[in-house]
Amino acid sequence: MIPSYSRMTNLLFWFLLAISLLAILLFEFGPEQRLNILATTELSAKAQDDRVHGGRSVTTLVGDEHRPAIDCQLREGYEFPFCELILTLSEPERGIDLSHFDGMRVKLRAEGGQPQIWRFFLRNYDPSYSRPGDDISHKFNEVMFRPNDYNVLQDVPLDVFAPSSWWVQQYNIPLAEQGADLRHIYAIELASGDRMRPGNYQLELEQLEFYGRWGKPGDFYRYLLMSWLAYGVLLFLMQYLLVGDKLRKARAARLAAEALSQSLSEQNRRTEEEARYDPLTGALNRLGGEKLLGELGEMPLSFIYIDIDHFKHVNDAHGHPMGDEVLKHMVSEVLRHCDALCRLVRWGGEEFVLVCLHYEQARAEALAERIRGALESYPNWPLGLKVTASFGVAERRGDPLEKTLKRADEALYQAKERGRNRVEVG
Ligand code: GH3
Ligand code: MG
Ligand code: MG
Repeated sequence: MIPSYSRMTNLLFWFLLAISLLAILLFEFGPEQRLNILATTELSAKAQDDRVHGGRSVTTLVGDEHRPAIDCQLREGYEFPFCELILTLSEPERGIDLSHFDGMRVKLRAEGGQPQIWRFFLRNYDPSYSRPGDDISHKFNEVMFRPNDYNVLQDVPLDVFAPSSWWVQQYNIPLAEQGADLRHIYAIELASGDRMRPGNYQLELEQLEFYGRWGKPGDFYRYLLMSWLAYGVLLFLMQYLLVGDKLRKARAARLAAEALSQSLSEQNRRTEEEARYDPLTGALNRLGGEKLLGELGEMPLSFIYIDIDHFKHVNDAHGHPMGDEVLKHMVSEVLRHCDALCRLVRWGGEEFVLVCLHYEQARAEALAERIRGALESYPNWPLGLKVTASFGVAERRGDPLEKTLKRADEALYQAKERGRNRVEVG
């Protein structure tokens, strides 16, 4: 079963809320990320001194890379005598990104002459200032240990590191790059400070660990915000689509209802129309005739009352169905002589009234006579019967319709009286 839209968005909301709270809790109060430098596998330790520059200081590596230590015999000879411990983490070009750590826990053990002022460097590679083949060109991110900073665990925030000023001067580093850069740290170096006097010193790096949260707070909260924004956009889109869908369905339902009511009203109209006609002959029936008369108002007209002569005989001799056939033929023959101003009404049984709009008496009489003659000489009567009809004509002449109709009826009666198959005018 597909869950409903509101159930889905509800679920998604609670899911996102739970994940967000959990993530915030973990991020703010969860275990920190740690990197124990002395336990890294690629680490290598090396001792260096000023003999490369013609000096006389001697540095000897006494520990291994997991507990590196140097013995330093600082001697005058070179302009800036120094001893140095170098811990290499990787090739300069690869480096390790330490920028997402918050700080460094470090413990240095120092023994020997005084004062002990060791400089601690995080060496960073970056193509914008690093030069191939020039080891000194990689950035020196520096902090300096004072005489009392040894033999205890020190917590050093990483944002206190800054590039050595001599390095900035020597490589003419632009202002924008004169900050600490910890994104590609490839080596950690401990070098004796300028103010250390000639003598013997021992330095051991007992512990070195970087710690921090599992990401930059800015990034973390940005992702969180973006997830909620994405949820909001999704919610909006789904609502938009759903409302669109609802509107479409409502429109379709309205169209269907309109079509139905149209077809119903069409059906009604047709039923009403059909109710006005005689199904046997197709002429207007009595109801249709009365409606027609009701719509005529003061219109001038003539009525021609038509009644088949001795129709009972037809029924009696040939049966009612044959009588029906005669009626159909008779109607079609009458209509054949009518124009658009005439309406034929089956007034009852085998009696018809021809309503001739705007026909004055003479014209109606002439029409009646034509029809009478046509019926008399009609060649297609069923069974070759001879069928005639009598006609009563009356012009309205401003009379009420009932009165005119009555005159036509009386004229018909007269026609019957005078021998049938005739036209009389009332
Ligand atoms: P007349 O010349 O005096 O008019 O004689 P008639 O026999 O035609 O007499 P009348 O007009 O009074 O008779 C009407 C007959 O028409 C009566 C009935 O049997 C017949 N009739 C009426 N409606 C129908 C019908 O729908 N079908 C058939 N077959 N006969 C009908
Ligand atoms: Mg008759
Ligand atoms: Mg009759």
